Amino acid sequence: MGIILPDPATNKRYNMQSAYLKKRFGKKAVKISLNGGFTCPNIDGTKGTGGCIYCSAKGSGDFGGSPCRSISEQFDEVRKKLVNKWGDDLFYIPYFQANTNTYAPLDRLKRLYGEALACENTVGLAVSTRPDCISEETADYLAELSRETYLTVELGLQTIHDGTAALINRCHTYSDFLRGYEMLEKRGINVCVHIINGLPFETREMMLATAEELGRLRPHAVKIHLLHIIRDTVLAEMFERGEFAEMSMEDYIETVCDQLERLHPDTLIERLTGDGDRETLIAPLWSRDKKSVLNGIDKEMRRRNTVQGCLHGAYCN
Ligand code: SF4
Repeated sequence: MGIILPDPATNKRYNMQSAYLKKRFGKKAVKISLNGGFTCPNIDGTKGTGGCIYCSAKGSGDFGGSPCRSISEQFDEVRKKLVNKWGDDLFYIPYFQANTNTYAPLDRLKRLYGEALACENTVGLAVSTRPDCISEETADYLAELSRETYLTVELGLQTIHDGTAALINRCHTYSDFLRGYEMLEKRGINVCVHIINGLPFETREMMLATAEELGRLRPHAVKIHLLHIIRDTVLAEMFERGEFAEMSMEDYIETVCDQLERLHPDTLIERLTGDGDRETLIAPLWSRDKKSVLNGIDKEMRRRNTVQGCLHGAYCN
């Protein structure tokens, strides 16, 4: 059986979002993380307190700017750094990352998203949120936006298993996720789903079941993260008490390859590992060597002679 690469230009065996963006917009498009000063219903007591057990004090937005500054100021600050790194021939996608970025009245969302979209050379918008925090009114507005720009709404699923969700204090069930997901999908809004490998007590079979479900749902994009154990979190306390073990790099690489085989070939891959805050990361320390993780995934996919979506019959002849 022969293999056809998803995009021969990248030589990767998965469907990279960065390559898709380059093709769609004609040049490199990069995200700019912003902090709109939102909170989260899992922190302010509406759904829960303390947040998900791995959530950092910055609400999982470790690379977002300071909410004390305006959106356009934050945008400019990051843009200058990106220009120093890659030159100025870039497009930008403002990314509301920290906390729950639809958790506010609609007029505030309109103001913040509007300010971001008005920034220089912007070709899209990414909004990270919880599936239980999207009202019909907000979904209608997001549908309107997605007709005007390349909008992606990012939903934190992490796992389909409600037992793990309760353990990590996610405060929403898989059915809640499906309700939120379908509200967006039926309006034609691109959804990117986040999942985490290495959650306490999850077996490889459980992680693969999560990927299989995403293979069935066929979201626009997926981000696969490794569980980062960050200082001053409930998760760190559990880890230090020896209640669960960190995932090894070998196990992570094999699990990700198994998951890529289960995802739909058209789903874009935005990430195959996370960028934890180096200062506060307790474990797994091997995750700092991102290059080795990504090279390991490429090597394992080549060894298997497989591609993303091969269990859906993709790219094989
Ligand atoms: S939903 Fe996101 S922001 Fe809210 S507590 Fe969980 S990880 Fe943190």
